[in-house]
Amino acid sequence: MADDPIKEKCHVDDGKFVRPCHWLDKATDARGNSGRERGLRVFDYSRHGVPSRTFFAIKSAEFPKALAIDFCPFCGTNISAPFTDEESAQPKDPTHDR
Ligand SMILES: [Zn+2]
Repeated sequence: MADDPIKEKCHVDDGKFVRPCHWLDKATDARGNSGRERGLRVFDYSRHGVPSRTFFAIKSAEFPKALAIDFCPFCGTNISAPFTDEESAQPKDPTHDR
């Protein structure tokens, strides 16, 4: 029946794209990275016109550039993969052989 059932849990596609649960989705009011309003935002990044990453972050007076959230505050799912698995991150593991 319903094409769009309420999503009870977030999940992360390909380790890069957070697909929010119903409540997380609603909590952003569809606000993206632009603008100065504080609150919960969805960050959609693209590289060369191709979506590269989607994650959620909170902007506040203390964090005007936003603070990414590791866990969904509603369903508790770990949604940190898109920003903990940086493609551009350099290996920092001291045991890593160079
Ligand atoms: Zn969620």
